[in-house]
Amino acid sequence: MLRTALTALTGLALFAAACGSPDSPDAGNPLDLGRDSEQQQCIQNLYEICTAQSMHYAIYNVYMTSIPEVYEFMGDELACPSCGQYYIMIGDEEEYTVSCPLTQEPNHGTYGSQNIPPNPHGSEVDVCRSNMLTLRTIESMYYGVYNCFTDSWENIRESGIYTGPALTCPGCGSDYRFHAQGSHYCIRCPLPADPIHGSVVDAMISW
Ligand SMILES: [Zn+2]
Ligand SMILES: [Zn+2]
Repeated sequence: MLRTALTALTGLALFAAACGSPDSPDAGNPLDLGRDSEQQQCIQNLYEICTAQSMHYAIYNVYMTSIPEVYEFMGDELACPSCGQYYIMIGDEEEYTVSCPLTQEPNHGTYGSQNIPPNPHGSEVDVCRSNMLTLRTIESMYYGVYNCFTDSWENIRESGIYTGPALTCPGCGSDYRFHAQGSHYCIRCPLPADPIHGSVVDAMISW
């Protein structure tokens, strides 16, 4: 009896969850794409097209020679986010270029077998350094409140200054080496000497 009642309740709850949220607009698109992010998205698309070409070359020893062929290979039809048009590909089985279809400035670029676009996820060293700059900001905010630096994520979280996940180096996935005492601190990338991502000592950056 109780079980039936519970099942009925659960059913109701599910029903409410399914129907409760009136059409939330564009739930799948949390980013408000500005001009810069359109360019970034476009370069990321170009990067994915070039990656598909490289994979095709690795398997068949030739590049694909038309964009529909590439889209079929990728299982996705990528378009420039600014104009919604497909990319333009020129070339043969040995060499190709692929371009953003925008005819006016700013065109988002042309890449190809001789010129692979930058990894849109940023190089590891860039991401690592930007993490360390975030830590530097956290330290100076922490100092502003407590008049000392800290090397404890627990303290940082308790302070409410930063409540996100602990930052780690993208090169090795490890936590930063953190030392703080009074008015001095040091944040060091955990990677060994090579490659060197650097360190921040008392707000001074090493790179
Ligand atoms: Zn574009
Ligand atoms: Zn690092």
